[in-house]
Amino acid sequence: MSMDGLDVTACEQCPALCESRSRIVNGTGPADADLLFVGEAPGEHEDEQGEPFVGRSGDVLDAALRDAGIARDDVRITNCVRCRPPDNRDPHVEELANCRDYLDAEIERLDPSLVVTLGKVPSEHLLDRSIAVTNEAGDTFDARVGDTSCRVLVSVHPAATLYDRSQEETFETTIAQAADLAGVGEGETGQSRLGEF
Ligand code: SF4
Repeated sequence: MSMDGLDVTACEQCPALCESRSRIVNGTGPADADLLFVGEAPGEHEDEQGEPFVGRSGDVLDAALRDAGIARDDVRITNCVRCRPPDNRDPHVEELANCRDYLDAEIERLDPSLVVTLGKVPSEHLLDRSIAVTNEAGDTFDARVGDTSCRVLVSVHPAATLYDRSQEETFETTIAQAADLAGVGEGETGQSRLGEF
């Protein structure tokens, strides 16, 4: 594994993605964050800036975090694959598999109270089954990660709110729920409520 701590520093496992990427986009945020958000893959802006969830999707995520009383700097944000797919296509199954060890290592290192999967691809990737995200948004499940497990909260992708305004409330409610479950955000005691579920 070409991984230095939480960062992948050199990796050429996915030939197509090595062609399309400008850089490897690693996760951002504290290595001991209680909340970890997992997206699908870097897009154009992420590839340019070397950071996950910037651009319009990032703005939507930032606004929902703010509304939930969470500082973006206090959470960790990463992706299932760390290199931008060509033409923004979905990552292929083998690319997701190639990058899985990095994601598992990041989750194991963080040991977060809660992992929030942003959209269909990360939800299906971590829960290893087909998911109807709009129906299951706000539901929590246990996911196997390496030799351990983590609690996953399914969310719609922030970009979904840009194309379908009816998803806005679902997204904001899920992010507020994430803050509550992980015991982070304004007014929270720092005590995770996951044991109650
Ligand atoms: S997507 Fe992941 S596994 Fe594939 S080349 Fe990039 S860092 Fe390596």
